[in-house]
Amino acid sequence: AKERGRSNYQFFNERLSEAAFHALTVETRLRDAIRREQFVLHYQPQVRVDTGAVTGIEALIRWPQEDGTTVLPNDFIPIAEQRGLIMPIGAWVLRQACRQNRLWQMSGLPKLPMAVNLSAIQFKQKNLVSVVEQVLAETGLEPQYLEFELTESMLLEDMTAIAKTLEGLKALGVQLAIDDFGTGHSSLMHLKRFPIDKLKIDRTFVQDVPGDPDDVAITAAIIDLARNMGITSIAEGVEKPEQLAFLRLRGCEEMQGYLVSEALPAEAMARWLARRRG
Ligand code: C2E
Ligand code: CA
Ligand code: CA
Ligand code: CA
Repeated sequence: AKERGRSNYQFFNERLSEAAFHALTVETRLRDAIRREQFVLHYQPQVRVDTGAVTGIEALIRWPQEDGTTVLPNDFIPIAEQRGLIMPIGAWVLRQACRQNRLWQMSGLPKLPMAVNLSAIQFKQKNLVSVVEQVLAETGLEPQYLEFELTESMLLEDMTAIAKTLEGLKALGVQLAIDDFGTGHSSLMHLKRFPIDKLKIDRTFVQDVPGDPDDVAITAAIIDLARNMGITSIAEGVEKPEQLAFLRLRGCEEMQGYLVSEALPAEAMARWLARRRG
């Protein structure tokens, strides 16, 4: 059997590039993981910059392996998107995030919005709004405790269709955030035209404040833009006290990052929330 495994490998390797072979292996294993629901969600808190009060939680997918290691989303989400596997994964994430949030609420933890990352492919599905409505009904989660994180590139194509989807989601009562703000094709038109609640300032800008004058200018501009439009600003990837001091000075509303907490498994997050409240 060992022999055969090796020759199979050679067979593929002769015909496919390393990268294609890797993607094929991952694809096969992803299909298996989807069938067996072998993914888990980790949770990262979001807090107010001025008081430290917890304002929300972002759900981040992980793929644990049998050898005890964990595959991070950047190493499988793009492959899942290419191979047509993101829909079942995305559906699992949505249901699991809503279910977990509802469980925490019923266990007496403070009610917080749970942010879920949407892939562009999920966002384009025609029945997204009804899928979301159904998951909310099924899990019993009130809509204001669900938030979707979208990227700027998702907002570029068909403005009319996008507006319809976003308005449909807002009509359900869920929150909408723009992730990685400033890294895509930012159009201020989008902010004016679409019902956005939150701007997440990308980590690449946040990481070099207050040292880098360009990043200082960009971060401060996004904070002011959000405030002036009545949108919540949240800084991503805050790791250092100097970054926090800068955000406080500039009036950024919320933050997320290792300075507060990394993303934690469900039980650890529940303990973190309970401790934080007490
Ligand atoms: P993202 O949505 O921008 O998520 C933030 C990433 O930064 C997470 O990585 C998080 O663990 C990491 N992070 C948080 N705080 C800090 C910090 O202080 N410093 C640094 N260096 N990193 C920090 P993660 O979990 O590996 O996720 C990577 C990306 O994968 C996410 O970027 C998101 O685009 C995507 N992703 C994660 N979960 C899902 C999901 O359920 N569905 C989809 N479609 N994409 C997901
Ligand atoms: Ca995100
Ligand atoms: Ca982000
Ligand atoms: Ca990012």
